[in-house]
Formats: sequence, C-alpha cells, structure tokens
Amino acid sequence: MRALRLLDWKSEPELVEVPRPVPGPGQVVIRIGAAGVCHSDLHLMHDFAPGILPWGPPFTLGHENAGWVAELGTGVTGVEVGQAVAVHGPWGCGTCARCLLGIDTYCENPAAAPVPGGGGGLGLDGGMAEYMLVPDPRHLVPLPATLTPTEAAPLTDAGLTPYHAIRRSWSKLAPGTTAVVIGVGGLGHVGVQILKETTAARVIAVDSRADALRLAADVGADLTVPAGEDAASTIRESTGGRGADVVVDCVGSDETLALAASVVRTLGDLTIVGIAGGTLPVSFFGLPYEASVQTTYWGSRSELVEVLDLGARGLVRAASTVYDLEHAVDAYHDLREGRLDGRAVVVP
Ligand code: NAD
Ligand code: ZN
Ligand code: ZN
Repeated sequence: MRALRLLDWKSEPELVEVPRPVPGPGQVVIRIGAAGVCHSDLHLMHDFAPGILPWGPPFTLGHENAGWVAELGTGVTGVEVGQAVAVHGPWGCGTCARCLLGIDTYCENPAAAPVPGGGGGLGLDGGMAEYMLVPDPRHLVPLPATLTPTEAAPLTDAGLTPYHAIRRSWSKLAPGTTAVVIGVGGLGHVGVQILKETTAARVIAVDSRADALRLAADVGADLTVPAGEDAASTIRESTGGRGADVVVDCVGSDETLALAASVVRTLGDLTIVGIAGGTLPVSFFGLPYEASVQTTYWGSRSELVEVLDLGARGLVRAASTVYDLEHAVDAYHDLREGRLDGRAVVVP
C-alpha cells in the first residue's frame, strides 16, 4: 500500500510503498477513510531535531484519523469488521490511573506505552495511508451514524484539542463573559464553534489572515480582529476595558502570547495550545491577578465522544478541503503557505 512517510527530521515527507499492516493479538487494522493535515506535522518536518522528542522518523504521518475496521487480531472483541470508527490518537500504557480515565495524553507510565507521548502519526505509523494499525481497540470510538470518516477525522484533533482546552474553562464562560481565540486555522475555527455551542461567552477571533477571519465570522465569531499592533486595544475596548475571561492561543508565538497576556482579565484563563515555540514571561506584576496560565495537550477519549456528538448533531463542523494521497504533500504546502481555510483532509 502507499503511505506518506516522514523519513528524517528536517525533511519533506515522501509517498512510498510499504507493506499493509497485519494485526497482532489484541490489535486492529483500520481502512483509512480520512486523515487530517495538522500544523504539528509542519513542526515535525521543519522545527524538530533529534533528541527533542522521545521518538523520531521514520513513520507514516497522520494523527487525525477515521475509517472502518478492516481486520481484527486474535482476541479482539467489542468492534466489528466494517464498523465506522474514529481513532483516539494519544496512546498511553493503558493501565495507569490516567489511561484508565481515557487521559492517555498524560499517561504516567510512558515507558510502557507503544511510543512515549505519541501515537499513530506521531512516532508510530499513522493514517496517511490506506490502512493503519491500532494497537488496542480501546483507542477506537464508534462513529455516530450521521458522521462520515471525512467529517470525523479532523474532529479527533482540530476538534478534540480546542474542546479539551475550552471545556476546562467552562466555569469561567458564563453569560457576560468573553473568550478570545488567537489563530483561527484548523484548530481555531473549530474552537470558535465549540465556544459558541457549549458556552454563553461572546467570542472574539484573532488572525493575521483575512480569509481566516472571514471563516471565523462565518462559523459564528461575534467579533474578528486582525493580528497586529491594534489588536489588544480593540479587544480591550470591546470588553469595556475589562479584557477576556478566557484566551485560547492556537499559535503560541512570542507575539501571540504577548497579545494573550495583554488582554486576559483578572481571574481569567490563558491557555497555550499552539506550539510555535514562543515564551511568556510570568511575574508578579506581569499578568492580571489570578490569571491562570496553562498548556494543554490534545484531549481525552470521553471528550472525543462528546466532540463527535457535537459533530453528529451538526453543531460543530470542520471546514475541510479534500486531497487524495498523491497530493497530500500539496496539502502540507498549502497549509504552510496559509492558503487553506479550516482543515485539509487526506482521503486515500
Ligand atoms: P493552522 O496553520 O491551521 O492555523 C494556525 C492559524 O494561526 C492560521 O490561521 C494562521 O494564519 C494563524 N496565525 C499565525 N500566526 C499568527 C499570529 N501571529 N497572529 C494571529 N494569527 C496567526 O494550524 P493548526 O493545525 O490549527 O495548529 C495550530 C497550532 O496548534 C500549531 O502550532 C500546532 O502544532 C498546535 N497543535 C497543538 C496541539 C496540542 O495538543 N496542544 C494539538 C494540535 C495542534
Ligand atoms: Zn495535531
Ligand atoms: Zn498510562
């Protein structure tokens, strides 16, 4: 079968021929219906070097995956061949306290995981291929009948990641509050919808691209603000000078973190989701009192079930451009050049 593989750090992925995976005992092979194109893959191709992560190339890209169960290893129960499923991407040890709660992202025994801190498409072979090996059926979530794999795939990361970040701030998003999403690309445009559908907050979207701001408005942002010098004052003015109760930074550069810090309100949440590598100085007078700063990584299995429900009921939808596997490299180029609105999805 064909697979889009990252063969080395600091390199472009290549479409190569590889053997179709065979499920060992307890494992499942799924036929890929769709795999989402995440900006994190661009960081893998261009920003990372040996030693930064506990795993590395070669592996098949694609960590936002959905499809159909194709083959079961011996002893697998609870899923059926042909069943439509989404893959919960982070794969922990399966037995620590966090994994038992479905919070594989924060597995406490990463040495016993299939790959420490990763999963399919992040150290192990992912879904930019015709088939993908999933090491345990607990990583599979059945797709609701009204959701296709093409619709579901981006929800497993571009949906799940902002959902997790926003859900932990729900208590701060009562009527009268404001949430700011910085960077309304793949994650951010779904984040805007999640805020609108699960909270009463007013939603402000910030991006450096006019097309991204147009998409943000289309999916429900109450106010769109171009990135730049005036962004902070515009946000302050539009909140009566108070600032935002919750800021979700889906970029994570020095510039966006500075913006986030300058608009977050006392008692607010500043959540860093983007991994552009910026730094936010934290000091006593540097942030409003009791503003909390946190990073978040992906989301839990039960949260994926909730995101898929939002998708199945048409409340949250990833705007997607579809590429075939032959053109998956073009999808990454388009993402890198800022030519995409929403998410690119590869359908092999
Ligand atoms: P994307 O490229 O689709 O979207 C990024 C958006 O940010 C684009 O619309 C871009 O125009 C905008 N942007 C860039 N610089 C900006 C600036 N200075 N000010 C305002 N907007 C700016 O990327 P994505 O796939 O949505 O991923 C976003 C980030 O989140 C990436 O760094 C990715 O690696 C990271 N990520 C993190 C997690 C996690 O678990 N924490 C999960 C997935 C992705
Ligand atoms: Zn991702
Ligand atoms: Zn674990």
